[in-house]
Amino acid sequence: MKIQSQILVALGLGAKRNWHIFFAIIAGAIVGALFPAANHPTVNEIFTFAGQVFIRLIQMVVIPLVVSAIIVGIASLGDGKQLGKIGLKMVLYYAFVTIAAVVIGAVLGGIFSPGTNLEGYISPQQAMEAQQQFNATAAAQKENITNMYLNMIPSNPIHSLANGDMVPIIIFVFILGCALAVIGEINRPVVSFFESIFASTMKITDWIMVLAMPGIFALTAASVSNYGLSVFGDISKFLILIFVGFILQLTVIYPLLVKLFSKLNIWSIYRASAEAMMVAFGTASSSATLPVTIACCERRVGISNKICSFVLPLGATMNMDATALFQTLCVIFLTQAYGIQLDFLTIVMVCLFAIVASSTCAGIPGAALITIALVLKILGLTPEQLVQGFAILFTIDRIVDMTRTMLNVTSDIVVASVIADNENEIDRELLSNQETWKEVV
Ligand code: ASP
Repeated sequence: MKIQSQILVALGLGAKRNWHIFFAIIAGAIVGALFPAANHPTVNEIFTFAGQVFIRLIQMVVIPLVVSAIIVGIASLGDGKQLGKIGLKMVLYYAFVTIAAVVIGAVLGGIFSPGTNLEGYISPQQAMEAQQQFNATAAAQKENITNMYLNMIPSNPIHSLANGDMVPIIIFVFILGCALAVIGEINRPVVSFFESIFASTMKITDWIMVLAMPGIFALTAASVSNYGLSVFGDISKFLILIFVGFILQLTVIYPLLVKLFSKLNIWSIYRASAEAMMVAFGTASSSATLPVTIACCERRVGISNKICSFVLPLGATMNMDATALFQTLCVIFLTQAYGIQLDFLTIVMVCLFAIVASSTCAGIPGAALITIALVLKILGLTPEQLVQGFAILFTIDRIVDMTRTMLNVTSDIVVASVIADNENEIDRELLSNQETWKEVV
């Protein structure tokens, strides 16, 4: 082995455990930049294959984990009163971070107009067509929202399970969990069964996490090798605004939530969640990160299993505040690029639909650019009509996706911590004493 590689390996192995993944991300970016896909297709295929193996392995445990976690979580909350109280808090806190996110997205987009001056990318013909289409259907499309909610109710839960439709699955499992909690002792066989499933899927996760470092290295290398680092120059204003929005969430909104509603220290929570944040960044999937999110919360933040298994699976699927911020900013960016004027009320509609679209968004890579179609629909537009604008969005999506997933996961952890603090379900000693933290990855 060459001396440089020996040093790299030694650094990786010797680094503190929670820096392994960070190290994998940096090394992946460097190697990806050195082997652009255009010149080294085989290397790129190998990275992509290795990364996919890792993602698929984690995805393999997600459905059994979500189902068992929610059932065990709700059943252990016992009486309906505590369940209702925690559920209400969860909705309120998730709403707090998501509403803040869309407001930040709309304000940044409105003030800094990231989509203007993109004439070079957008053909005037398409811009005109998009404007006409928007004008023709501006106020319509209200019935879409009813259909969207209707599709969330599973007419056949087994079908939803087989298809991996997370929102209908969660709704069914949630109702099943409530029923089990209410029927009393007779629920024991089913709840014990799911307790075993939960414990064993967490064990499988521990095994899969042995591959976290090479897996995340391969994923990062593959995406940098595909897209390169230079594409970011052309639309730097838009990119900077997205990241400013994310930083505001991280440094103002989450700390504000923690300050207003708990006695916890946000920086300790961030430190304890480092691994989950890095895995989220590397995989760009909140669902795939869920096992690590739960492990960080239980083994480091000190949140009880009861709260973790109820709040985190729901958060990983339905709380996507950074996605909502991104979608709001994207729609404003696209409409500006195509010369479409949005009035205040339409911007409010965009924000509302971004909240809905983000919460129906699966926790998988690239999902935001799929459900953004729902937000565009209220403007009478489709992604196909805005194809040049979308091409720009797709070019930058991976890195933005990695960052927004990191935030989506962080806000789940922050909300779970605040609820745990309110309910006295957190081990504050553990959180404040880093020496006692258990290993996660
Ligand atoms: N990748 C994101 C997540 O898993 C969803 C998205 O914004 O595309 O949280």
